[in-house]
Amino acid sequence: MALLLIRNNKDYQPWIEALHKADPSIEVVTPETIKDPADAKMAITWKAPKGSYAKYPNLKVIGSMGAGVDHLFEDESLPKDVILTRVVDDKLASDMQEFVAALCLNHIRNLKTYARLQKENTWKPTDYKRAKDVTVGILGFGTLGQAVGTMLKAIGFNVLGWSSSAKNVDGIKSYTEDELDTFLLKSEILVCLLPLTENTKGILNKDLFKKLPQSAYLINVARGGHLVDDDLIEALNNKQLSGAALDVFHNEPLPEEHPFWQTENIIITPHIASMSNAASVSGQVTENYQRMQNGEELLNQVQAKKGY
Ligand code: NDP
Repeated sequence: MALLLIRNNKDYQPWIEALHKADPSIEVVTPETIKDPADAKMAITWKAPKGSYAKYPNLKVIGSMGAGVDHLFEDESLPKDVILTRVVDDKLASDMQEFVAALCLNHIRNLKTYARLQKENTWKPTDYKRAKDVTVGILGFGTLGQAVGTMLKAIGFNVLGWSSSAKNVDGIKSYTEDELDTFLLKSEILVCLLPLTENTKGILNKDLFKKLPQSAYLINVARGGHLVDDDLIEALNNKQLSGAALDVFHNEPLPEEHPFWQTENIIITPHIASMSNAASVSGQVTENYQRMQNGEELLNQVQAKKGY
């Protein structure tokens, strides 16, 4: 019996050390060190090379090393009869809270404009907005969306959430699927924190942008597949949107020739909004490993039917 790690970048050492610290009784292996593929009963993975899962015939549990699970479903070798899990972690949530709060404040206080003016040796005060006068709409009001919403509310923003099912979060109005247009109409800053599924792919498109208030600001910290890139450029050119902050892209790293690099008013960050930390996450992985062995219900399960 072994716990198998598969990562696209093969950066295994921090995970091996953290998992060993969390539970030294578990044998942790990688595709390079496993002796018999039949020994792997559970795998935790991040963007595993396509076809990886077919090599391990006895997998009962496959867990994502992060909160997102779209990388699991993109692989046709993902077995149908396994339990899927993902990461739900306080550090992941607080990192996301701080990152989105920084972007919202950066936007309303025009810091990007001053960075540009500084390069031109130009001293030019501009008007700014106060958080209490700005409404932030969060598309995907789940674990991370609610954490971000709570922080933005504490800073003083008006906050709205949109999700499949209604949520009860103090001081934040919750909208459900058929109320999307009403939600968008009020969202001066739109934050995308949806999972990438068949239903949410391409949701950030020209039709949606038209429903936002004029000059709204977009923050996409979910997945590049949510956004129709050309529609964003068009919405920025025709001033429907005043700017965007993008942490995630269709292809990562964002190719050098991609027009986003040269588009004014886009902030580009390299998928760093909130990164899974092996030390913080290992406890829930080893707990799930023991639960699997004891035939108990696992933590943080993913609903394969919904895709998240
Ligand atoms: P959750 O599953 O906890 O939340 C997802 C939310 O989206 C839920 O509220 C869900 O509604 C809602 N939702 C899903 N599909 C729909 C739909 N079709 N219509 C309306 N609402 C929908 O996920 P997390 O909050 O943990 O993570 C969200 C995403 O953030 C991840 O999938 C990942 O892609 C991204 N992420 C990005 C990171 C980065 O560094 N940039 C880091 C970590 C995560 P309901 O609650 O009713 O089911």
